[in-house]
Amino acid sequence: MLAEIIAVGSELLTPFRQDTNSLFVTEQLNSLGVSVIFKTIVGDRKAHLVQAVSLALSRADIVCVMGGLGPTEDDLTREAVGEALGVRVRRNGDLLAALYKRFAERRISMPGNNSKQADMIDGADILPNVNGTAPGQWIDTVVGEHRKLMMLLPGPPFELKAMFTAECLPRLKEALPPRHIARRVLKIAMLPESEVDARLAPIYTRFNDVETTILAHAGEIQMHLQCTKAILEVAQSRVNELASRLEEEMEDAIFSSHGETLEQIVLYYLEIRGATVAVAESCTGGLLSQRMTSISGSSRSFVGGAVVYTDALKVEFADVPEDMLEEKGAVSREVAAALAHGIRRRAQSTIGVGITGIAGPTGGTEEKPVGLVYIALDDGKEINVCERNFRGDRDRVRWFATQQALDMIRRKFM
Ligand code: AMP
Ligand code: MG
Repeated sequence: MLAEIIAVGSELLTPFRQDTNSLFVTEQLNSLGVSVIFKTIVGDRKAHLVQAVSLALSRADIVCVMGGLGPTEDDLTREAVGEALGVRVRRNGDLLAALYKRFAERRISMPGNNSKQADMIDGADILPNVNGTAPGQWIDTVVGEHRKLMMLLPGPPFELKAMFTAECLPRLKEALPPRHIARRVLKIAMLPESEVDARLAPIYTRFNDVETTILAHAGEIQMHLQCTKAILEVAQSRVNELASRLEEEMEDAIFSSHGETLEQIVLYYLEIRGATVAVAESCTGGLLSQRMTSISGSSRSFVGGAVVYTDALKVEFADVPEDMLEEKGAVSREVAAALAHGIRRRAQSTIGVGITGIAGPTGGTEEKPVGLVYIALDDGKEINVCERNFRGDRDRVRWFATQQALDMIRRKFM
C-alpha cells in the first residue's frame, strides 16, 4: 500500500513554519507497513488543492490531507477534496447542532463562518475532534477501479495526533492486511558515502524485499534496513540476513548494528577491556571530552584531560617539547604524538589521545590548509598518528576530528 501526504497551508510555504505533522503521520503509516511515496505542501488556493488531491489519488492508495479544516475563508480542504472526488459537500445537521452546543456551553455565540466546519463530503465518516472544533473526515471509496482511503485531518499537531491515533489507526488496521515491520540501523564511521554505496549496493539491491536507505551525516553513514511481512519472524530474518552480508563486506568499518552512537560503542569497548583514556585537545577545544562524558558511566573509562590551546599550555600540561613546537609548528604529526604521549603519562591512563589542527576559517596556509588535523593515539607501546584533511566549516572540521579520534580508539579495542 502506498500513501501520499498533503500538508495544506500557505504558512507552510514560508520560512516561518514547518510541516511537522507529516513526520508523525509517516511514522504511523510506516508502522502499518505503508510506504509514503510523496509528500506535498500546498498553499491555501482551491485550484492548487484540487490539483494536488487529484494527483495524489492518481498515484497513491491512501491520501492523508492535513490542515485547512478551520472556519476561515482560507480553509478550503473540504470543498477541494469534494471537487477532486466529484462528489457533493453538504452541511451536516448533527455536526452543526454539536458546534452550536459547544459554543453555548462556553457561553459565547458562534460566529457564522464556523458553521462551515459542519460541511461533510458525501459518503465520508465523521472523525470526532476531542481537542478542537474541526471534525476530521474518513473516506473509503473507489476511484476508477481502485479502492482509495482518504483522511482529512486538522492542522494543529495536538488535534491531529489525537485524532489519528484514536480514529484513523483502528480504521487503517482493519482495512490493511496484517503487516509486521523489522528494522535495523547499521552505522559506519569515517568512510565516504560513495565508497560505502559502491561496496554495499551490489549486496542490498539483491534483497528486493528489504528497503535500504542510506543517510549520510558528518563522518558517519547510516544504513536503515526495513522489511515488511505478514509474519514478524520472516521480516526479522530477512533484515538480519542482509545485515550479516553487509557486515561481512564492510568488516570492522561498521561500528554499530543496533543503533548505538560511536561514543557509546567506544566506551563499551573500553569498559570490557578495562582500559582508560586521557585526552589533550587543541583545535577541538574539549569536544572529544564532551562527547565521551555525555554517556552515563563514562567515568569508569574516561579519566579526563586538558584543552591545550596555546603553545604554552601544550608544554605545561602535556609536556610537549618547546623546541618541537618551534621546529615543527603546533599543527604537526610530531606535536600530536607528543600530546598523546604527554597526557597519557600525566594521567597514567591506558591510552592518550592528542588532537591538533586548523579548524578555520582563518589560520590556514598553503602548507597547512584549513581542515588539516593530526589525531594521535598512544597506547604505551606505540603511537599512531593519523593525518586528515577535512573539508567544511569550523564545526564540521572539529566534529570530524573527534569522530576520527573515537574511531581510532574503537579500532584499538574492538
Ligand atoms: P489549519 O487546520 O490549516 O487551520 O491549521 C491550523 C494550524 O495548525 C496552523 O496555523 C499551524 O500552526 C498548524 N499546522 C497546520 N498544518 C501543519 C503541519 N503540517 N505541521 C505542523 N503544524 C501545522
Ligand atoms: Mg491553514
